[in-house]
Amino acid sequence: MSTIAKRVPINARKKLQSLMREYFVSLDAAAADSDRRVAWCTSVGPCEILSAMGYEVYFPENHGALLGARKISHECIPAAVGVGYCAESCSYMTSDIGAALSGISPLTEAFGIAGPPKPDLLSYSTNQCREVQDWWNFFGRRHDAPVMGIRPPSHLGQVTDAHVAFVRGELNQLITRIESHSGTKLDWSRLETVVDLSSRASSLWRQVLDLAQAQPSPITFFDGLIHMAPVILMRGSQEAIDYYDMLLAEMNERVEEGTAAVPNERFRVYWDGMPVWPKVRELSEKFFDLGVSIAASTYCNSWAFEEYDGGDPLEWMARTSTEIFINRDETFKQQFLLDMCKRFSIDGLIFHNARTCPNNTNSRFGMAQRLRDEAGMPVLVFDGDLSDSRFFSTAQTMTNIEAFVEQLEGCCQ
Ligand code: SF4
Repeated sequence: MSTIAKRVPINARKKLQSLMREYFVSLDAAAADSDRRVAWCTSVGPCEILSAMGYEVYFPENHGALLGARKISHECIPAAVGVGYCAESCSYMTSDIGAALSGISPLTEAFGIAGPPKPDLLSYSTNQCREVQDWWNFFGRRHDAPVMGIRPPSHLGQVTDAHVAFVRGELNQLITRIESHSGTKLDWSRLETVVDLSSRASSLWRQVLDLAQAQPSPITFFDGLIHMAPVILMRGSQEAIDYYDMLLAEMNERVEEGTAAVPNERFRVYWDGMPVWPKVRELSEKFFDLGVSIAASTYCNSWAFEEYDGGDPLEWMARTSTEIFINRDETFKQQFLLDMCKRFSIDGLIFHNARTCPNNTNSRFGMAQRLRDEAGMPVLVFDGDLSDSRFFSTAQTMTNIEAFVEQLEGCCQ
C-alpha cells in the first residue's frame, strides 16, 4: 500500500515535490560555490534578514523532521548521546547531531545530495526554545562558523510595544554583526521586498488552513504536514507564493464541490502539539478509517502570520516572531485553543505530550482538563514524541484513539 493510499490526493503535491528538489539541489550547489553563501536558521527565526543579505537559507528542524518521517532517528540519536547530549532532550536536535556524526541523511535518497549544506553562518531565535541555541552551537563548532542569535522575551501574555521594540533592537544588532562578518551591507529596500514576499506566502497559507472551517473539511492536519514545507523553507520567495496560490485554488474548488479530505467526515478534531513524524501515516490512516478529520492544529498554524502592511520591515519581523503561539503564556494559549475550536466547529481535542519537546507540549499543567471542562468536549492526551519512536506505543495510542472516538460518538451524534 502506498503512503497516500488512505488520503484524498492533492494535485499540487507534484509541484511541491519538484519545488523541494530544486530548493535542496540549489542549497547543495551554493555550499560548493565559493561565491555563494549558506546560512542556517531556526524555523521562525530571522530568515528574511539572511535572504535579503544574499544568504541561501537552510532550516535544520526540517532535517530533524525528515529523519523522523523516514524512521531513521533511532539510528542517529545514540551517536549524539555518545558525545554528551541527553537522550531526553529535543529529538530533532539529537537525531540531527547524530545523523551528522554518523554520516546519514535522508536528503541523499530523496534528492541525490550528500546531506545538509555546510553553513557560512548559523542564526537562531529562542522564541521557540533554548534548545536551538545549543543545537546550532554544536554545528558552529563543527563547521567553524559563527553562531548569531536573538533572545526575545518568552511566555508572554500580551505582546506590548516595549517587547516589540526590544526584539527590533536585537534584530538590528544581529544585522550589524552579520554585516561585520560578511562585509556586506544590508539593502533595506531588499529587506522590505523579502518581508513582503514572506508575509504574502504566510497569508496564503493561513487562507488554505482557514478553508478547513468548511464542513466537510477539504484538508486535514496530515495534509498540512506535507504542504507546509514551502512556507518554512522558501519564505520570502515568489515560488512559495505561486505554490500557495495553486494550493488555495485547489482547496477552494474542493470546498465548492464538497470534496472531503476524509470522506464521510463524522467528527472534527483539533490537534495540539508536535506531529509524531515516524507514525504520521499510521495515525492519518487510523483517523481516516474512523471518519475523523483533524481539521485544525497548533502546529500547522505556527507559520500563519499577519500580513506586512508596508511599514518598518524589522518591526513586522519583531512582532510576528514574538507573537507566535509557542512564545505565549498558558492563559493566551488556552484562549487561542478555545477560539480555534469554535472557528473550526471542533468536536474534540487531542494533545500530544511529546516527551522530548516540553516547549511545544501544552498538556503538562492542567490545560487539557481545563479545556475539557470549559469547552465541554472530549479530550485525549497521549504520550509520544516528534521523532524518537521509543517514546510512542502504537498499540496503546490506537486503543486510546478508539476510546476517544467512542466518547465523541456518545456526545456528538
Ligand atoms: S521547539 Fe521543541 S522540537 Fe522544536 S527545536 Fe525546540 S525543543 Fe526541538
